[in-house]
Amino acid sequence: MNPNFLQTPIVYLKGVGPNRADLLKSELGIETFNDLLQCYPNRYIDKTQYYKINQLQDSSADVQIVGKVIHLKTVEQKRGKRLVAKFIDETGEMELVWFRGHKWIRENIKLNEPYVVFGRVNRYGATFSMAHPEMELLSVHEAGLKIAMQPIYPSTEKLGNAGMTNRVMAKLVQQLFNETKGQFPESLSGSLLNELKLISKSEALFNIHFPNNQDLLAKAQFRLKFEELFFVQLQLLSKKAIRKQKIKGLPFTEVGEKFNTFFSKHLPFELTNAQKRVIKEIRNDLGSSAQMNRLLQGDVGSGKTIVALMCMLLAIDNGFQACLMAPTEILANQHYNGLKELLGPMDVNIELLTGSVKKSARKPIHERLESGELHILVGTHALLEDKVQYKNLGLAVIDEQHRFGVAQRSKLWHKNQVPPHILVMTATPIPRTLAMSLYGDLDISVIDELPPGRKPITTVHRFDANRLKVFRFIKDEIKKGRQIYIVYPLIQESEALDYKDLMDGYESVVREFPMPDYQISIVHGKMKSEDKDYEMARFVKGETQIMVATTVIEVGVNVPNASVMIIESAERFGLSQLHQLRGRVGRGAEQSFCILMTGHKLSADAKTRLETMVRTNDGFEIAEVDLKLRGPGDLMGTQQSGLLNLKIADIVKDNQILKTARFYAIQLLKMDPKLEDPANLPIRQTYAILVKDKAIWGYIS
Ligand code: ADP
Ligand code: MG
Repeated sequence: MNPNFLQTPIVYLKGVGPNRADLLKSELGIETFNDLLQCYPNRYIDKTQYYKINQLQDSSADVQIVGKVIHLKTVEQKRGKRLVAKFIDETGEMELVWFRGHKWIRENIKLNEPYVVFGRVNRYGATFSMAHPEMELLSVHEAGLKIAMQPIYPSTEKLGNAGMTNRVMAKLVQQLFNETKGQFPESLSGSLLNELKLISKSEALFNIHFPNNQDLLAKAQFRLKFEELFFVQLQLLSKKAIRKQKIKGLPFTEVGEKFNTFFSKHLPFELTNAQKRVIKEIRNDLGSSAQMNRLLQGDVGSGKTIVALMCMLLAIDNGFQACLMAPTEILANQHYNGLKELLGPMDVNIELLTGSVKKSARKPIHERLESGELHILVGTHALLEDKVQYKNLGLAVIDEQHRFGVAQRSKLWHKNQVPPHILVMTATPIPRTLAMSLYGDLDISVIDELPPGRKPITTVHRFDANRLKVFRFIKDEIKKGRQIYIVYPLIQESEALDYKDLMDGYESVVREFPMPDYQISIVHGKMKSEDKDYEMARFVKGETQIMVATTVIEVGVNVPNASVMIIESAERFGLSQLHQLRGRVGRGAEQSFCILMTGHKLSADAKTRLETMVRTNDGFEIAEVDLKLRGPGDLMGTQQSGLLNLKIADIVKDNQILKTARFYAIQLLKMDPKLEDPANLPIRQTYAILVKDKAIWGYIS
């Protein structure tokens, strides 16, 4: 078969007209034969059994029954109508019910003809009923491909309403197998197939869609998962290799005056071992001739800022400029002030550039940047504007990378003729093995140690009914001179409601903590940024004792005197967000507390999240739980990894296969970096098609 055959637009498949092609594209993203082939079933149903109506049991699983529709009627109900069919076999009668798609059913169902219906049954009183059954004429059913297990394909309401049932999907896939005679180009080398005892591509594809038995299904799944992860790894690894070879970096060979002066005279504390190790790793990178692209992971409060500063000093020592980009103005401000304080009297020119810096103030910044007089520029997205030109940018530090898109990273690259070294800092803990695979094209450093003397934060879960006690506790803490955060959720989908919650909450806090004894700040996304900054600044200076806020404070804000973090409607936050929020306290010498407030009604997942938070302060442990609960798709920072588009593998559940795939990808590239060996031709051809597919690989590093 011509390998390009599978790239044929789906509209050319027999049984797919323009309408169905449009639907397949909009609902399932299927555009080509290959996309359909890779639209793997979600699950399978064993249909070797047929049930009689008098054998049905309450809430029995999906079953198939042979019988006839003898009557159809429409029943009005509170909302809309339902279509009800009386369905009988020789042992009794039951109902089939549709809430949608009535027209199609009425036009297509044949009365008094034997059908096979399939679906889940429910009992209402003495009557069994099956909603939206799959139906097939018995004659068609018997003539069809005899398969032991039936594939259940992904579907959507729209597809269902348009009559694109599971049966139709399976038929289309069958059609594809007919046209290709079930022969598909092999994508792995013979040696891989042998060594890993993998079944062939054609056998795997057949058994993933129409498994002959459980054993073959398992083999097909393994083979396809391996293949998928293998090609992801191959892509990531070769990208990294190309970068290391082709993209010359700016060698920072000197450890010079600035770095040494800072280290010997101004370092305010002893570095932790983890910080020392990471600085060494980064220095090795910067000193080599390759461009650095490094992810620096460290839990909140692990001390990433000072690492960034020391790297920036290295850049300056080698005659380069550096920039530090943060996701919010508040954070950029804090970084700017923090760095200035750390640098103290040192002769380093540093400026702040954010959206709210006035035009008149920008001009001199631009000029000093272009002349090279300015050493470090701190800011927000404003740093990416075209007007911002450096004399020679050597290092770009990006804080909290998940807030930045890929396009923005690429803009940074082009701020210099030779791309600057890039250090991405994130406090989103990603389990190590996962990070290795997700960011296969980045190097990774981990600060896995907190500065000494930190008291672990005490975390408790309290129900809303105990709010008064919580308020009393806050009053005691304030009496001791501490400051308090109260955070409300602000989730985009329900912004208006959330906003109301926040304002209601604020009012009740104001009532409970009246002026002049108490001063309260409020910060939320709808405020102008100067108002936000003003309120934030009051809290930072200690002029207000309570900060009521939405999650705008989530990232990076540093107020060491704040000792209590109260999270309202905590059940609505994800684990990593809860952990980030908690990281706002526990930054000073005092014992800190995190109080998770919720109502009584909690889902099982919410309970697990709360229990996890109460149990541990370890960001990596929390990330593991988070990953198990949510899957990698939702994990912050994974969006641009390409792994979201996985068709069959699951990087959490299939972690072992992933490691295997990575191992073999490394091996292959070591032996045959350009995939020139004829034995690797299948791999090369598959790879070439994948790379062309911008939808999957259209991200840059
Ligand atoms: P994050 O990794 O969350 O960005 P920061 O860099 O803001 O953490 O550091 C958190 C706090 O810990 C800061 O107040 C910083 O001065 C302090 N800190 C960092 N490293 C050390 C250290 N080695 N010893 C003591 N305190 C440290
Ligand atoms: Mg930070």
